[in-house]
Amino acid sequence: MCGIIGYTGEENGVLDVLLTGLSGLEYRGYDSAGVAVADSSLAIHKREGEVSALEDALPDGSVSGEAGIGHTRWSTHGPPSDYNAHPHTDCSGHVAVVHNGIIENYQALRDDLETNGHTFDSDTDTEVVPHLIEDALEEGADHEAAFRQAVDRLDGSYAVAAVFATSETVYAA
Ligand code: GLU
Repeated sequence: MCGIIGYTGEENGVLDVLLTGLSGLEYRGYDSAGVAVADSSLAIHKREGEVSALEDALPDGSVSGEAGIGHTRWSTHGPPSDYNAHPHTDCSGHVAVVHNGIIENYQALRDDLETNGHTFDSDTDTEVVPHLIEDALEEGADHEAAFRQAVDRLDGSYAVAAVFATSETVYAA
């Protein structure tokens, strides 16, 4: 069973909060872990394996920001791997998404998105979400409206959280 944590707050404290939160969720079981921290761009780090493997892979002292999300994955769509670990992003790298559960209609959504030029980096059902958000942003929606419009397109059972490169807000549904 996966775990999700989101945090917005004191500058330079985000990564510590996310990693402490992920450590506290380890008892639920998982196969990979990752974080995204927003600081005018998105710093994304993810690894197959334990949270300690993610921590070992982090660059020393260079991840700071004021909002972030973290995830421990229990894979349902795509094998455990670095590239299937969450967070997932849109084509431009402007939004990062973590997700718990299953998006039943992901294949139809993915087919439409790929037809419209989106490229995917993972096997997951989750990755449709950041691309749906990207489309909504391009059509003029603000961050909250884009997140809401993307979630409205999903069938299934899920918890989902997102951060944007240029915002201190964490969105969740
Ligand atoms: N279905 C998603 C995946 O396979 C999320 C799995 C989970 O709940 O961790 O990546």
